[in-house]
Amino acid sequence: MSYVPATLRRVVTQRAGEQCEYCRFPQTASLFAFEMEHIIAEKHDGVTEAENLALSCPCCNRFKGTDLGSIDPETGQLTPFFNPRLQEWSEHFRLEGGVIVPRTPEGRVTAKILQFNLLERILEREQLISMGQ
Ligand SMILES: [Zn+2]
Repeated sequence: MSYVPATLRRVVTQRAGEQCEYCRFPQTASLFAFEMEHIIAEKHDGVTEAENLALSCPCCNRFKGTDLGSIDPETGQLTPFFNPRLQEWSEHFRLEGGVIVPRTPEGRVTAKILQFNLLERILEREQLISMGQ
C-alpha cells in the first residue's frame, strides 16, 4: 500500500467531514484511527490521489479490501460498489434507526460486502444516535 502524505490525508479527512464515507461513522467517536481507502485499489491500478481516496473506518476498509463490487443479491448482476467520489450517500442509502438500508443496486452490494449491518455496528450507531451524534 502506498504512503499517503500528511497533507493529502488532511484534505481527504476534511472533505469527508471526519466521517467514514461508506458507513458514515464519525471518526471522533471511534477508538481507532480512520484509514485512507483506495476506492479503486492499487492492485487494479488505482492511484494515490484525492480523487481515488476516501476516508474509511477500519471496519469498512477491511471488508472492502481490494474489491470493486459484487453480485447484487436482488438481480444477480455484477455491480460496482457505491463510489463516494461520484455518488451521493443519501441516494444510495438511508438510515433507519441504527440500520443502513440500501436504496440501489450499488447500495445493496456495498452494504452487503462492507457488512454495514452487523449487530455490533447497528448497536454502535444506535448508541451514537441516543447520544445525539
Ligand atoms: Zn465505515
